[in-house]
Amino acid sequence: MITEVLTANQLKKEAPVFGQLSFDNHEQVVFCQDKDTGLKAIIGVHNTILGPALGGTRMYDYKTEWDALNDVLRLSRGMTYKAAITGLNLGGGKAVIIGDPKKIKTPDLMRRFGKFVHTLGGKYYTAEDVGMETSDMDTVREVTPYVTGISESKGGAGNPSPVTAYGVYMGMKAATKFAYGNDNLDGKRILVQGIGHVGEELVRLTSEEGAHVVISDINEERLAEVSAKYGVDIYRGNDLYSEAADIYAPCALGATINNDTIDKLKVKVVAGAANNQLANEAIHGPLLQKKEIVYAPDFLINAGGIINVYAEIEGYGRDQIMSKTENIYNTTLDIFNRAKATNTTTNAAAIGIAEDRITARKNKQ
Ligand code: NAD
Repeated sequence: MITEVLTANQLKKEAPVFGQLSFDNHEQVVFCQDKDTGLKAIIGVHNTILGPALGGTRMYDYKTEWDALNDVLRLSRGMTYKAAITGLNLGGGKAVIIGDPKKIKTPDLMRRFGKFVHTLGGKYYTAEDVGMETSDMDTVREVTPYVTGISESKGGAGNPSPVTAYGVYMGMKAATKFAYGNDNLDGKRILVQGIGHVGEELVRLTSEEGAHVVISDINEERLAEVSAKYGVDIYRGNDLYSEAADIYAPCALGATINNDTIDKLKVKVVAGAANNQLANEAIHGPLLQKKEIVYAPDFLINAGGIINVYAEIEGYGRDQIMSKTENIYNTTLDIFNRAKATNTTTNAAAIGIAEDRITARKNKQ
C-alpha cells in the first residue's frame, strides 16, 4: 500500500533508488523531517574509511526534493575526494536543508537539525556552506559537538571562506603556470562568477596581483559594493560563458560546465570555488581536455575551507592551516603533470590519487 502511494506521488523516476545516477556506494543517507520547525533535511555520508565524514550544510530553495537528494549525494562524494587528496584523515559527507534560508531559517530549525546530526554519533560532522552563517553553526553547537566552523569566540576556527579563497587562488596560479608557462596573474582577464564569501576574497587576491577582474552575480547590491571596493568591472552582457577571457572562476553554484555552456567557453583556464563544476564528469571533463582548457579540479582547489575546519578537530594553528592551503599549488601542478603523462583528464587524475589513498587505508584496516 505504502509503495503504491509513493510510486504514484513521488517516485516517478524509473531507476531504483540505489540505482540513481548520483548514488556512488554511499554508506548512509539520512532523511530528517520535523513538522514543528518545517525542517526537511538530507544528510549524505559517502565514505568514512579515512575518518569521520565532514562536510557543510547547504540550505537552498531546491525546485524539487529530487534535486536536493541529487545535490547531497554529489556533494558528499566530492567531500570524500577532497579530504583524501588533501591528506586529511576525514571521510566525505554533506547535508542539505530544503528551503529558502531567508524565509524559513530559525534557531529552532537549526537546533532540530543539530539534533539529527547528533544521532549519527560523530560519524558525520557538519559545517557551514551556502545559505549558512557561522552563527548558525554556533546554534547547532548548542545541541551537538559534531559541528565545526563555529565562531572564534566560542573556540572555533571561524569563517572558512577566506582560507577557501586562498586555496582557490593557489590552484588558479598553478593552472595559469601550466597553461601559460608562468603563474603571474598580472594582466590576466578573470571572470569571477559569484562574489559571495569566497568570490569576494578571490577578487581581492587576484586584483591586488594586477589581474583584470570582471565580476558577475545575481545580487546587484553586492556587485556595486565589490566593484567599488576593489575597482573591478561588472559584467553587463547576457552570456558570461561566451565572454573572451583568460580564466573563468565559478564561485556561485555547481554544474555550470554543461552541455549548454561548454562549447561557448573562450578561456584557457577554469579554476573556481564552486563544488561539482562539471555537470557530468565523464562527459565534460574530456570535452574540456579536448578544448585544451586547463581545468583545476574543484574539490582539490577549494579544500582550504575543509583544512580550516579540520584544524578545529586536530587543534592546528593558523600557520599550519595556511601552509597546508598553500600546498594546494603543488598538488594541483602534480595532478596536471600526472594527467598529461597518462593522457587523462585532470579531474580523473585527481580522483585516481584520492582513491589510491582510500584503498591503501582500507587494505590496512
Ligand atoms: P555565498 O552564498 O557566500 O556566495 C555565492 C554567491 O553567488 C552569492 O553572492 C550569490 O548571489 C551568487 N550567485 C548565486 N547564483 C548565481 C548565478 N546564477 N550567477 C552569478 N552569481 C550567482 O557562497 P560561498 O561561501 O562564497 O561559496 C561559493 C561556492 O564555493 C559554493 O558553490 C560553495 O559550495 C563553494 N565552496 C565554498 C566554501 C567556503 O568555504 N565557503 C568551501 C568550498 C566550496
